[in-house]
Amino acid sequence: MANIILLGPPGAGKGTQAKRLVDARGMVQLSTGDMLREAKTSGTDMGRRVAEVMERGQLVTDDIVIGLIGEKIAKGSRGGFIFDGFPRTLPQADALGDLLAAKGQGLDAVIEMQVDDAALVARITGRSTCGNCGAVYHDVTHPPKIAGVCDACGSHDLRRRADDNEDALKTRLMEYYKKTSPLIGYYYAKGQLSAVDGLADVETVATAIASVLDKA
Ligand code: ADP
Ligand code: ADP
Ligand code: ZN
Repeated sequence: MANIILLGPPGAGKGTQAKRLVDARGMVQLSTGDMLREAKTSGTDMGRRVAEVMERGQLVTDDIVIGLIGEKIAKGSRGGFIFDGFPRTLPQADALGDLLAAKGQGLDAVIEMQVDDAALVARITGRSTCGNCGAVYHDVTHPPKIAGVCDACGSHDLRRRADDNEDALKTRLMEYYKKTSPLIGYYYAKGQLSAVDGLADVETVATAIASVLDKA
């Protein structure tokens, strides 16, 4: 059992790799983006405020995401957790350390998925996600076998995200460089950082992540 963070800018491939680890190793994926999108549909005032912030591409406040993650960690996971899109700020990273320590646990690896910015526009603007099971597709690199139908569950509900446009992506990248990229130094200093080439194809990235995990 291992607890790991997948760290990287929007479109780096965190969700794609997290889903493979869930299938291959029985780990539990904790995506704060997915949790927030669920909260958005709750119809509450908080949900509406969160939706606006997300559509602009800005980060939601630390308190909200730390609260969401805290509830999940409290439930535990036999195969370990994959933190996907969390932490995104230094206070979130500190809070995660405290939440895991309270359970007598820690982080086994922080995997930085290295990509270049030019690739991200193409990744993000071609992305679609299954509204039923969360499978991730790409118009060019990973289209579903039958157009408009999810390979994994057969649903016809393949969606584009409201924030997957070039404008919001610019804001998301700026948020990443200003607030999230300091985590690379933070985890390097703790001796927990490993980097993989996120520009390689999905299989090659998965193999690189597996070898980090097997050494952890
Ligand atoms: P991406 O695919 O861009 O990495 P996510 O699905 O992880 O996107 O996140 C989508 C949006 O949800 C972010 O742009 C941000 O508004 C919000 N969000 C997700 N995780 C966090 C977090 N840990 N802290 C603050 N905001 C978050
Ligand atoms: P993140 O969760 O980091 O935002 P995703 O896993 O959703 O990223 O991937 C973003 C887009 O790029 C999706 O459309 C996905 O199908 C595609 N993608 C993911 N990994 C790769 C890869 N290694 N090569 C090419 N396309 C990829
Ligand atoms: Zn599906």
